[in-house]
Amino acid sequence: MWYDDLPERKLIPPEYGEECWPRCPVCGEKTDTFYRNELGDIVGCEGCVRYVDAWQWWEDYERGY
Ligand SMILES: [Zn+2]
Repeated sequence: MWYDDLPERKLIPPEYGEECWPRCPVCGEKTDTFYRNELGDIVGCEGCVRYVDAWQWWEDYERGY
């Protein structure tokens, strides 16, 4: 049959390990989750992106911290 000529594609890496774990382009850490901005650029991962309380941040900013 015609599709017998196609090279076999593996959907799953042959071995899970250090080498095939996705790494964050920002901090280089291995991660399961990336965060993307509206342009589609990776801005970080769960290892290097932190939630900040915006009101707290603003308060500190107003005080000059
Ligand atoms: Zn990161």
